[in-house]
Amino acid sequence: MPRLVEVALPIPLFRTFTYEVPDEIAGRVVAGARVLVPLRGGREIGIVLGDATPPPARVRLKRIGGAPDAQPALSPALLRLGRWIADHYAAPLGLVLRGMLPAALTGAAHPTPAPKVRKRVAIVRELPSLAERDRLFKRAPRQRAVYELLESLGGESTVGHLVEQLKFSPAVLKGLVKNGLAQIADESVARDPFGARARHAEARHEPTAAQAAAIAATRAAAPGETFLLHGVTGSGKTLVYLELLREVVTVRGRTAIVLVPEIALTPQTVDRFRAVFGDQVAVLHSALSDGERLDAWRALRRGEKRIVVGARSAIFAPLTDVGAIVVDEEHEASYKQGETPRYHARDAAIARAHLEGAVCVLGSATPSLESWVHAASGRYRKLVLPERVGAATLPQIEVVDLTRQRTPATDRVRQVFSEPLETALRDALGRGEQAILLLNRRGYSSFVQCPSCGDVTTCPNCSISLTAHRAPERLVCHYCLHQEPPRETCRRCGAALLAQRGVGTQQVERLVIERFPDARVARMDVDTTSGKWAHVEILDRVARHEVDILLGTQMIAKGLDFPNVTLVGVIDADVGINIPDFRASERCFQLLSQVAGRAGRGAKGGRVYIQTRVPTHHAVQCAVAHDYERFVREELAGRASPPYPPTVRLATVVISGPHEAQVAAAAQLTADWLRRLLAQKAVAGMTLVGPAPCPVERIKNRWRWHLLLKAEQPAELGRVGRYFLERFPPPPGEDLRLTFDRDPVSLL
Ligand code: ADP
Ligand code: ZN
Repeated sequence: MPRLVEVALPIPLFRTFTYEVPDEIAGRVVAGARVLVPLRGGREIGIVLGDATPPPARVRLKRIGGAPDAQPALSPALLRLGRWIADHYAAPLGLVLRGMLPAALTGAAHPTPAPKVRKRVAIVRELPSLAERDRLFKRAPRQRAVYELLESLGGESTVGHLVEQLKFSPAVLKGLVKNGLAQIADESVARDPFGARARHAEARHEPTAAQAAAIAATRAAAPGETFLLHGVTGSGKTLVYLELLREVVTVRGRTAIVLVPEIALTPQTVDRFRAVFGDQVAVLHSALSDGERLDAWRALRRGEKRIVVGARSAIFAPLTDVGAIVVDEEHEASYKQGETPRYHARDAAIARAHLEGAVCVLGSATPSLESWVHAASGRYRKLVLPERVGAATLPQIEVVDLTRQRTPATDRVRQVFSEPLETALRDALGRGEQAILLLNRRGYSSFVQCPSCGDVTTCPNCSISLTAHRAPERLVCHYCLHQEPPRETCRRCGAALLAQRGVGTQQVERLVIERFPDARVARMDVDTTSGKWAHVEILDRVARHEVDILLGTQMIAKGLDFPNVTLVGVIDADVGINIPDFRASERCFQLLSQVAGRAGRGAKGGRVYIQTRVPTHHAVQCAVAHDYERFVREELAGRASPPYPPTVRLATVVISGPHEAQVAAAAQLTADWLRRLLAQKAVAGMTLVGPAPCPVERIKNRWRWHLLLKAEQPAELGRVGRYFLERFPPPPGEDLRLTFDRDPVSLL
């Protein structure tokens, strides 16, 4: 009887497959190894799970076609982590395991040879006066658009970015060059920008008493223990992580994983780890090519690199003997993967720490309610850094009630900058200090509305309004990227002169430049950062004080540590506060607290102005008072009835398809089936809500309905989800898709 093994294949089925092992490669066919197996006439890469028992006699088994690696690709701990994710999120194990490996090892790689040379365009003549601009660009509005876009990008960009992503024609760029305003030059590209980054020596600080207590507690942790490090902004959480790693990696010789929400937005954090641990650190970021990612993966597996710093998927780093896992800014929604397997990297981190006997530290100034509740119940151990380090104190926050500002409708600047904010900005700039302005809405204006009939211009594919953008002038859908030229007249009633409503970052930038012509302004949002490394370039310029005002969306609120920033202004705190998602208030509180935390991190102190129309909203009030605990108390009370996480655990089922009636009918069938299941199997403490159309009813031409499963017992959700996905007969309808999302971060 030949040896048999069980193999997981990367296909959307829950079953695994049994194969015979040829003797020649038997030594390589061990648990965690990659194997080539015949499937549907082709070959597929699978992962060996272990030895299999013979199936019923009549089944004829196929043989494994090859085993390419001398060592298994997945360690026993990673295999077990994969099983945990598959069970917990009701995802097929083969898809989970594929997602844990670099694309180059799964056959999913797409060869993307990194360009060695790219063309860069840079402004060579500055045009400080608007009058001169008007004159020069009188007959060339497109040139002006590129010129002003370049300004907002810090004076330069790649030609590829402007031409391919922003759709400027090369002729417009040539025009600028011909007029002596810009020049184009070749630039060679480093393959790994982080590898090429200068490394600063880390200034070693004496830990404060609170830091010392946290360091001691985490160093003395029991294997698998989880800590919640609640430290206000600027309290020095990074030092705690660094000192823990010094002990775990340098002294004990183990390895460590550090997760950050998004590498490009947190270059300073990454720099600090590299400053202390040098070449032992592998930085995994989204700009790596498949080949670079594979190189890093191999270096980690061989033990040449012993610390990994990376976003979400770095939790799967092939390190052995992991001794510490840090999840910085644990409350961030970007830790949740948006496609199968829909894992949450924070929860996967806790699971991996258990499996490896490592200590897990979740750090945040504004912990998620989920983590807070676990800390309160004693499941995680709570550590607190209640104060900022050194002479710094938390900044004073002023609320500006926009409903009480008497502003003439003609004063566009005043509608965006209240008098207190404008005065504070002028004062800060006058003292040579820097400012951060937050507006969590990109584009020029947020929507276009007909003043006669009220019609709002919406996307033809999605049920959301189009956002007006300048440079070039166009209306853009932020869901599907549909673009169209602005209309002259209303499509419904034919009235002329459509009005743009609600300002976006582009418009604020315009107004800042108008009002503060001498200030150097940088804008950071999705539109200015589509270049692979644009975020880091902008942030480095702020650090070198080549920027006076940094303006942007929520991406400027994270982890930045600039001591010369003394002023933070929130242009409109209400963006997002009313969206139909139970976490809307929590997100708003976190964003306000985090962005306020960017002010006054040095000895000069800091001030924050929050402009809002809802000054009494508890998210605003608690952020102003720096009162996290009060926010949690009030928010938890609001999530008790009707119950929402963390009072219950949640999963959503979303059904989508091109035909509205079919989607609605399928959603009803699904809900009926699930209700019967809950009743028949007597699943305790689980309720079903819905079906109903999703708040965003249509995305990319697909109608969307959802239903919510609420469970008192977390384990039940995985069980029910799996049973449902395996047994539910696909409802009739064209091109229907069904997703199951456990612990979703968004209900939109
Ligand atoms: P957090 O992440 O908690 O907002 P950081 O870790 O960024 O705070 O630390 C804020 C600043 O304080 C950093 O510039 C850091 O170098 C500095 N710092 C941290 N710990 C100390 C300390 N014990 N003494 C002096 N400065 C410190
Ligand atoms: Zn759209």
